[in-house]
Amino acid sequence: MDDDLVAVCDVCLGEIADGGGVLEVNTAAADRALRAWRTRVGADPQALFHLTPGTRPVKWVVRHHDCDTGPVFAYTIAVERIRSWTGAMEWSVHLADKPFLAATDWFDLLDRALHPRRAAVSGILPRTPRDLSGGPVGDA
Ligand SMILES: [Zn+2]
Repeated sequence: MDDDLVAVCDVCLGEIADGGGVLEVNTAAADRALRAWRTRVGADPQALFHLTPGTRPVKWVVRHHDCDTGPVFAYTIAVERIRSWTGAMEWSVHLADKPFLAATDWFDLLDRALHPRRAAVSGILPRTPRDLSGGPVGDA
């Protein structure tokens, strides 16, 4: 396998093959969360959504096509388009100018891929697991 990253379904915990599923986020929910947050914090240009107590980011979902139905308003990434660290970085750059991104857990999703916790059983994960201290595990 040449892929750096595997997609593991949040619903059934099965690995998702190319063409078999997506990463997606409910953009309508993220827009609502951003509007509510902006009403709370006002015009403060220093305010950051993810640092404001009480905010709950909208979660990116990783799933097989058949394991659930997506939200009506969704931003969707086919799993085969995020199979490498470079791909993940390209998506981060691409998504950076999307207003909804700040109200989602995109960077937590990537953080779980970079530093998988024992509890991270689904999402986008490295094909070669690393231990909690960041060192390689297995043959590497
Ligand atoms: Zn599934």
